[in-house]
Amino acid sequence: MNMVTETTRDGMTWYECEKCGLLFDNVEDAESHEANCDAEDPSYIQ
Ligand SMILES: [Zn+2]
Repeated sequence: MNMVTETTRDGMTWYECEKCGLLFDNVEDAESHEANCDAEDPSYIQ
């Protein structure tokens, strides 16, 4: 379920959506976003 990538930049920990690459400073926000992220859904690619 947890697919977000943890990354460190400028001494801060960020959480990256593996689908669209969006960065969050809060893991819960990242997981919540990723659960609703359609970036990888083929039906959205034209
Ligand atoms: Zn995303």
